[in-house]
Amino acid sequence: MTRLVTSVLCEGPEATRQAVAAVLATGADLVEIRLDGWADDGAPFAAVAEVLPPGRWMVTCRPVSEGGLCVEDTSRRVSRLLEALLGGDGYLDFEFAEWQRSANIRQKVRLALASRGAGNPDQPRLILSVHDLRGRPADPAGLLKVMSAERDLAAVKLAWQADDICDNLVAFDLLRQTEAPAIVICLGEAGLMSRVLARKFNAFATYCAPAPGAETAPGQATLADMLQRYRWRSISASTRVFGVIGHPVAHSMSPILFSACFERQGLDAVYLPLHIGPSAEVLRRFLSGCVERPWLDVGGFSVTMPHKQAAAEFVGERIEPLARRVGAVNTLVPRGGGFEGFNTDCPAALDAITESLGCERSDLGSLRADVLGAGGVAWAVVAGLRHYGAAITVYNRTAARGDALASEFGCRSEPWARRGQMGAADLVVNCTSIGMTPNVDGTPLPSERLAAQPAVFDVVYNPVQTRLLREAEQAGCRTIDGLTMFVNQAAAQFELWTGQPADKRFMRETVECALGS
Ligand code: NAP
Repeated sequence: MTRLVTSVLCEGPEATRQAVAAVLATGADLVEIRLDGWADDGAPFAAVAEVLPPGRWMVTCRPVSEGGLCVEDTSRRVSRLLEALLGGDGYLDFEFAEWQRSANIRQKVRLALASRGAGNPDQPRLILSVHDLRGRPADPAGLLKVMSAERDLAAVKLAWQADDICDNLVAFDLLRQTEAPAIVICLGEAGLMSRVLARKFNAFATYCAPAPGAETAPGQATLADMLQRYRWRSISASTRVFGVIGHPVAHSMSPILFSACFERQGLDAVYLPLHIGPSAEVLRRFLSGCVERPWLDVGGFSVTMPHKQAAAEFVGERIEPLARRVGAVNTLVPRGGGFEGFNTDCPAALDAITESLGCERSDLGSLRADVLGAGGVAWAVVAGLRHYGAAITVYNRTAARGDALASEFGCRSEPWARRGQMGAADLVVNCTSIGMTPNVDGTPLPSERLAAQPAVFDVVYNPVQTRLLREAEQAGCRTIDGLTMFVNQAAAQFELWTGQPADKRFMRETVECALGS
């Protein structure tokens, strides 16, 4: 059974007592008390330890060399820890490097553990740990083996600064191979998978933060996010893994949306933000790594900026015709020992338009549309509208990108400054990010140019009611919001991955609630 440990780093006994009570009451299995946060005023730890619930806490005093704050010499550090051990029945997390270096320390620690009965081999309380902030150790499997050879261990722990998301796959390999109870954590944003999926691979424990901003190590999710957003307690060895690949990805609405849908439909599945920096090479290695590890049970991935084109290249021939035409894949579905690529943005935009205008796709041939922007979404929107014969004019700040999009799909391209001044179109679609949170005062089309537009579609969905849509409504235009498209594309992904019908109303309400609108 994997323990969910919340790590608290407080300045002294009173704050520690309060923090411990709060996290244990909120759902953590154990609390890790980081003594390296305590002010050096000789505050007695034993008094705190005595009131802690037996077996539900661990103590450590992390030195700077392993990512902590403690600058004391080893003997003072060890004295603090021993005092803690003598005060009550908790786990001790001690650095393997120091452990190896000193027989004296080994003897003192073992005596302290034994003196409270916590040294009972049936209930070992010692965790030996290595934290490498430079990156993955040269031979992590060998290191875990050497550590595991020590007697009376509760667990061995190895944490390293992740270079990229592929480090998580190595962490899972190690958890599967190591016979002793083990904790393997990748530090940093790229390491979130290792923290959440620790439970899938039966790690001894995983760590989280009590609140945003109170992380004690890079990349920790909060206790609340572990329990609610990632539905951590529902994860088991058979849980299927989904996620959104992007950069940046931390603020994506998709984890909240899909977690809620999985819970509602009772699916054994978890959905994670998967941070992959701009490198297409890392994306390729990660996807190949997932294919090589069928036991990871990947159920599917959403793909967002800047990886949609690279995802299309990765799947090669295994791409649906529409995604090929758009040149971008936003949905990966594992099939036949690889991934198939789809684009759900394009039909999602078309459906948002036809539903709102009350027409069929086949009616789009008579539509004249002005498209603002020439990025990824613009390509999907233009590809879809052109497929049904709409006449399109593209306006983009960077003229060359606008020209490239227009020439690919046989449309007109006009300078950005002329947007809204070339005579009314039937529909204006904002495919730029102008007006998106936090720059909610921005608008891609000055209000005086709105009066002549019959319909305005803004793909920005955060906020749902953008300034453009507000002003368009005031000018008497029909409006289409980006959330309609977002829900449409997510619903199509859900159906591709699960084969079950998606509840779009529930999806919309979930995102609206998360956005506070
Ligand atoms: P992208 O590929 O980065 O393209 C951004 C576009 O916005 C480019 O055309 C860029 O022009 C233009 N732009 C950005 N800032 C500008 C400014 N200050 N002035 C003029 N033009 C500006 O992004 P994307 O993936 O297409 O996403 C665009 C928006 O769609 C984002 O807000 C995103 O959240 C939203 N989105 C919505 C959905 C949905 O389902 N509703 C799905 C995906 C994305 P340049 O070429 O000159 O840089």
